[in-house]
Amino acid sequence: MRKRSKTLKIKALKRDNFVCQKCGFEDKTGAKLEAHHIIPLYLMGKDELNNLITLCFDCHHYSPDKPEDFKEYMGEETEGTLTTLIKAWKLVRKEHPELFEEDSFSKIKDKTKIF
Ligand SMILES: [Zn+2]
Repeated sequence: MRKRSKTLKIKALKRDNFVCQKCGFEDKTGAKLEAHHIIPLYLMGKDELNNLITLCFDCHHYSPDKPEDFKEYMGEETEGTLTTLIKAWKLVRKEHPELFEEDSFSKIKDKTKIF
C-alpha cells in the first residue's frame, strides 16, 4: 500500500457525501469506503483532493489503474454486468448477513464434506 494522507481521504469522502461514486453505496461511517486516485501516484498523479474519488471496497477492488480505463469504468452504464453483479452481491449481503458471518464459509465447507 502506498502511503497517503488519512485526512485527505476523509476530505474526499465528505465531499462525496460518503457515497461510492460508482455504485451509489452509502456508508456514513466511511469504514467501507476508499479514496481512489484518479491518476495513480506512480503516473505522477497528485495526492490531493481533486485527484481523489470515493469508491466502496468492491468498486475500488475492480477499478482499473489506468486513468483512461478508469474513466470508462466510471462511465459504464449502471446496468453494466459488473455493476449489476456488485449490486446483487450487496443485496444478498444485506438480506442474508448470516451468510457472511465470520466462519460461515468454513461451516459451508464442513457441510459439503457430508455429501
Ligand atoms: Zn461501489
